[in-house]
Parts: sequence; C-alpha cells; structure tokens
Amino acid sequence: MPQKSITPSGTGYLAIPGPSVMPEAVLNAMHRPAPNIYAGELPQMMPGIVADLKRVARTDGQVAIYIANGHGVWEAALANVIAPGERVLVPSTGHFGKGWAGIAEGLGAEAEVIDFGKSAPMDMSRIAEALSADTANKIKAVLGVHVDTSSSVRNDIAALRATMDAVGHPALLMADCIASLGCDAFEMDAWGVDVMVSACQKGLMVPPGMGFVFFNDKAAEVRAAMPRVSEYWNWTPRANPQEFYQYWDGTAPTHHVYGLRAALDMIHAEGMEAVWARHAVLAQAIWAACDAWAAQGTLRMNIDDPAQRSHAVTALHLEAPQATALRDWTAQNLGLTLGIGLGMTAPDDPEWHGFFRLGHMGHVNGHMIMGLLGGMEAGFKALKIAHGPGALAAAAQVIASG
Ligand SMILES: *Cc1c(COP(=O)(O)O)cnc(C)c1O
Repeated sequence: MPQKSITPSGTGYLAIPGPSVMPEAVLNAMHRPAPNIYAGELPQMMPGIVADLKRVARTDGQVAIYIANGHGVWEAALANVIAPGERVLVPSTGHFGKGWAGIAEGLGAEAEVIDFGKSAPMDMSRIAEALSADTANKIKAVLGVHVDTSSSVRNDIAALRATMDAVGHPALLMADCIASLGCDAFEMDAWGVDVMVSACQKGLMVPPGMGFVFFNDKAAEVRAAMPRVSEYWNWTPRANPQEFYQYWDGTAPTHHVYGLRAALDMIHAEGMEAVWARHAVLAQAIWAACDAWAAQGTLRMNIDDPAQRSHAVTALHLEAPQATALRDWTAQNLGLTLGIGLGMTAPDDPEWHGFFRLGHMGHVNGHMIMGLLGGMEAGFKALKIAHGPGALAAAAQVIASG
C-alpha cells in the first residue's frame, strides 16, 4: 500500500511576510484593458488615492509615490534630505535596519549604526547617548524601522521621537513602515515622524511595485535647502503634480493604481482602528499557539516580550533543520507556504534551517490563521517534531474572546 497522502489542492495561503495575500477585489480591479493615461478615470482617481493614503499614514503632510519596492523608497526618501558626506544614525534591530544604512552609504552618506542585535527592540538610552555625543549636530536624520520584518520586533517610534526631543537634537526622524503600515497602529503626525516610507505589497495588499514617501513641512524645508536632488527621486513635483505624469515622473503603473484604489476602499470600509485590532487579535492567537507548542520541544518565538512583537509577522526558531523541513512539508502537502528565516544567519550555515517566519499581514482573517496554525500542527506530527499540546485550542480561545 502506498502511504496515504493529500495533495495541496484548494486555496493556498502564502503566509510569508510580503508579498502578502492579494484580495479578489484587488485582483479583479486590476483585470482590465490598458487605460488611457492622458485623460479620464485614471488621472481623476489620483487625488482620492492620495487623500486615502494619508488617512492610512495618519498624516496631514504630503506623499510622493514611486514605481518602486521598499528598497526604492528607502533611497528616494534619503535622496531628498541627505547629501553625500552627511551623517545618519541608524538604530538597527535586524536585517532591514542594516539594509537602510547600506542604502545611505551607497548615496555617500555616513551611517552610524547602533546594533541592538536580532531579538530585541531599540534601547532608547543608547540612542540618547549617541545623540547627546553629537554636540555639533552632525547627525541629520535618525532612520528607525518600525517593524523589522526579519526579527519581527516592533519598535516604539513615539518613544524614539521623545528621546530625540529630550536631548534637543534637531535631526529628522525617518521611519520605515514597510511591514507595519495597515497592520500595526502607526500615527505619523501624532508621533512626530518627519518622513515615513512604505510600499504596497504588505499591509496594503497590492502586488509589489509601488512605494510611498510621506513627509511633513520640516522635511520639506530640509529638502528645499539641499544643494541638488536627483530629478527622478525628487519628491516635490510628485507630491504637487500639475500634470498626471508628474505623480510618477513618467508612465503610471496603471493597473497597480486600480489595485491600490480597491485596497484603500477595503481598508477604509473596515476602518483603521478595526484593521489594527484585527491584526492584534490574530497575532495574539498565533502567540498563544506558539506558547503552547513551546512547552515541549524547541519551538520558540524570537521576541520574548509580547509588547515588542509585530502584529504582522512572527519570527520563530526550531532546532535546525526542522524549520526548513516544516516549511517544505506544509507547502507540498497543504498549499501553505511559510516564510524563510531572514538575516538571522547566512543561508549556507546549517543553522539557517532553524529559523522561519509567519506572515499575517493584510488580507487575513480568523479562519486563515486557524488554518495556518492547524497546518503547522499537522506538520509537527508528520515530521515528529516535538511540541506541547493545546495550541489550537489556545488560539481558538483568543479568537473567540476577540
Ligand atoms: C519588505 C521590507 C523592506 C524591503 O522592501 P522591498 O519591497 O523588498 O524592497 C524594507 N523594510 C521593511 C521593514 C520590510 O518589511
């Protein structure tokens, strides 16, 4: 008798931390012939999209839109306010903090990285020390990643602003909300963020290809004082276009615009607070399951303190090579794709197979999360990976209690 098995027919779940699951409404909105870019519906949609993006970011500032992924808007944001030779301070809590610092260095800036490791949030006292030591105010911007998607740590951006204010440092506060926007609560204006970058393929549920740079008046003044800014990255005409093509400095990503319109409609119909609350409850359900599993065996969450965890992504450890075995098993048998571990160790290190991540951002609900957790439980059993009991019951209880 061949071994009993099931094939992964049915709807899959790409549970990686971006690109995220795409809603039918977004896909359907994109399925259309090429629209005119000179007149009609497409140009008319833009003012509403800009207004609705700013509602997601909670800002009355401006937004420039780019045909770019997250790396692109990292560069776009810096190119507008940091000249070669100027200094940025980067409190790094994982792979993405280092990545943004690398982009700054590529532009000729000097990046001072404070490394907080791969399992802890920023320590504000060390940032205060670095800013206080900068008596000549050489640091022009602090680059803070809100949720570092590699470690799944969530940093306190309001506390970062308070730290800068407490030492009276005039640097710009720039935040990377690529993984958190539309998932974790974020208040650009209330938290005193001067520049915020995000992209469309995570909480915003649109296929990769658009990035956003939000900026306030203080950042606009710094931009105005720059000796020169590359024509393509220049955020001023993009945020104040006289003609439709200026939003993009060229041809619009036509179908992405329709997809984004549909995604923003979904987000605002649900309501920002409800979107944040849904992500919080679903994340807590995942943590409850992980706590139960962790009672036996080697599974553990990368971030110990729930208050410091992202609501959009969860980084996990298992004994290598069990994480890779689990990812392979759920993908092949269930159509459930779990995320690779990122930035924890090099891919050629055997330990690399002991890290993985769950993406729970954007278009996710309770039955998807219960399916994700049930699929992992099945994988543990199939692969004889030791785990504690009661994980699914614990997750169901969280969802039941809301
Ligand atoms: C995904 C991500 C990036 C990089 O975005 P790309 O679109 O892959 O270039 C940067 N920062 C954070 C926090 C991210 O989650």
